[in-house]
Amino acid sequence: MSFTVAIDGPAAAGKGTISKAVAAHFGFAHLDTGLLYRAVGKRLLSGEDAVLAAKDLRAEDLDVDGLRTPEVAQAASRVAVEPEVRQALVDFQRAFAARSGGAVLDGRDIGTVICPEAHAKLFVTASAEVRAERRFKELTEGGLETDFDTVLADVKARDERDQSRATAPLKPADDAVTIDTSGLSIEAAIAAAVAVVQKARG
Ligand code: C5P
Repeated sequence: MSFTVAIDGPAAAGKGTISKAVAAHFGFAHLDTGLLYRAVGKRLLSGEDAVLAAKDLRAEDLDVDGLRTPEVAQAASRVAVEPEVRQALVDFQRAFAARSGGAVLDGRDIGTVICPEAHAKLFVTASAEVRAERRFKELTEGGLETDFDTVLADVKARDERDQSRATAPLKPADDAVTIDTSGLSIEAAIAAAVAVVQKARG
């Protein structure tokens, strides 16, 4: 039996942490769809054509090092604007969503475009400042030298590009439950998400 959980939201809102915890709680598989766009963005940075890279993307491409850098994130949000790139990644995501045993997919357009029939939909958000603070901490702890203002500008630039693109812009599905994690602990945010999924399971 398939059971699909769609978790969308802007960068660094806590989607990844929440998605992994929800998947672990229910024993579902998890796909971070941002990695697909990052893998294509990385191949663009090394000189490949983005559409061709998206068309022959393989599961192994999601395991390569260096997908989490700010440069790759920016490249990802640039390739994500291209309808042909998005189209080339649809089947992979839908096949993952339909696997038996349950699946959690997190991204920007899962509840609206990839899985409009998902059994549970969440939109996880937080203020730009809170998200930049979290991302700054993550990056500096990972050894990257950067400053808060640069990270905040990056977050805002990506929000703007993700929300204003013509194809599959970032927005909550009409039937998504929004969780604003700005003032929530990780535990509270996870508990809120688990409760939404539990309710949808009936
Ligand atoms: O979630 P993450 O920050 O890894 O995503 C990187 C970029 O990939 C996002 O800024 C967004 O432009 C794009 N993306 C998307 N649709 C998704 C997942 C990610 O457009 N489902």
